Amino acid sequence: MRVRIVCAVALFALFLFPFCGRAAELKAIEPLLSPSTRLMVFSPHPDDETLGAGGLMQRVLEAGGKVKVVFMTSGDGYLEGVELEDHTAHPTASEYDKYGQIRRHEALRALATLGVKPHNVIFLGFPDGGLSDLLLKTCVHKDPYRSPFTLKNRPPKFELILPRTDYCAHDLSGEIERVIFRFRPTLVVTTGPQDLHPDHKTTYHFVKEALNRLGRKFPRLKPVFLTFVIHFDGWPVNQEASSGARLDPPEGFPVPPTKWITFNLKPAEVNGKREAIEKYHSQMKLLNRFMLCFAKSDELFLQDPDSPAQGGAPLRLSKKEPGLGSDASKPAPGRNQF
Ligand SMILES: [Zn+2]
Repeated sequence: MRVRIVCAVALFALFLFPFCGRAAELKAIEPLLSPSTRLMVFSPHPDDETLGAGGLMQRVLEAGGKVKVVFMTSGDGYLEGVELEDHTAHPTASEYDKYGQIRRHEALRALATLGVKPHNVIFLGFPDGGLSDLLLKTCVHKDPYRSPFTLKNRPPKFELILPRTDYCAHDLSGEIERVIFRFRPTLVVTTGPQDLHPDHKTTYHFVKEALNRLGRKFPRLKPVFLTFVIHFDGWPVNQEASSGARLDPPEGFPVPPTKWITFNLKPAEVNGKREAIEKYHSQMKLLNRFMLCFAKSDELFLQDPDSPAQGGAPLRLSKKEPGLGSDASKPAPGRNQF
C-alpha cells in the first residue's frame, strides 16, 4: 500500500513537472527540439540573431519546427556604418533611414540562407541606440522619444503591429506581448542582461517583462527562455579563430562557467551560418573579423533564472480563455505578418 502511495505521488509530481515554474536546470537544448518546437528569436539589431542563434534556427527548421525572428530596431543609428555607406561625415535623417532599409534587406537575405522565410520575420522599427532611453521616459503620446538619427518618433506605418504605437516603453511592451501571444513559442531566445550593449540588455528586459505578464495571464504559455551574448569586452575576437574552433564562454563573465549550455553545430550548419553572416555586407565592411568569430562549431546559451527547463507542447487557448484585448484581435495593419 505504502509503495503504491509513493508511486502515485511520484507520478503526480512527474505530471506536474512542466507546469511548476523552474523545476530543473536545462543541460542541453537538443532534447527540446521536435516538429512542435516554435522558436522565437528577439534580435536588437539585424545580425545579432544570426551571430547568436544562426545554428539553432537551422536545427529547429531541420527538426520540422517553426522559427520566427523579431527585430527590435533596424540598426539605422550606426553612425560609422552610415558614414562609410554614404561617404559623408554628417549623415542626414534620410541617410540614416536608408541605412535601416539596407540592413532590413540584408536581414531577409541572411535569414533566407538559414531557411527562414520573409513572412516569419518581423521588424518592430523601434529606435536604434534608443531602447534604454525608452525606459527613462514616461509614455506620453504627445511627446514620445525621438531618434536623434532618423528623427522619427514612431515606427514606420508598414511595421506597426498595433495601431497608434509611438516610441515609448508602454507601446513597445504592447507590441512584444502581441507578437509572442500570436506565435505562442515553446522556446524564446534573445540577448542577455550581461551583454554590454545597452540595446541588447534592454531587449532582454522588454522580452522578459512581456513573458512574465503573459505567463500571469496565460499560465500555460511558459516557453523555455534562453539568452546569448554578443558584446562582452574583446570577446570572441580574443579566442582562436581557425576553422573548426570552438566558441568558449567569455572570460570574466558574471555567470559561473558551468551554467553555459553548449549547442554543437554540424559542419553544414557552421557553413550555413557563415554564409548568412556574409549576407550582412554593410556590417562586414566594419566588423568582418568580429562577426566571423561567431561562425564556430558551437553556440552558447544561458537558461534564464525564471525559465522552465521544458517548454511543453505549443499552447492552444480554449475559447473560454481571454485574448489580449480588442487591439490584439485586429490584424496587423502593415507589412509585418504572423
Ligand atoms: Zn546588436
